[in-house]
Amino acid sequence: MRGPSPFWVVKCPDCSTEQTVFSRPATVVNCGVCGATLATPTGGLAKLRGELVRSLTG
Ligand SMILES: [Zn+2]
Repeated sequence: MRGPSPFWVVKCPDCSTEQTVFSRPATVVNCGVCGATLATPTGGLAKLRGELVRSLTG
């Protein structure tokens, strides 16, 4: 399925690190620095816990 935003830059709510995550992840995405949950899979677009900074289009 094509979409305009396959990847998102998300800011960690705990340590403010910005991390690129897939917008439709199959597994929970954790912050690479502090381990906080950034995105939870839903079967479609991820449910974000962190702040969406911007979208990256291919
Ligand atoms: Zn973090």
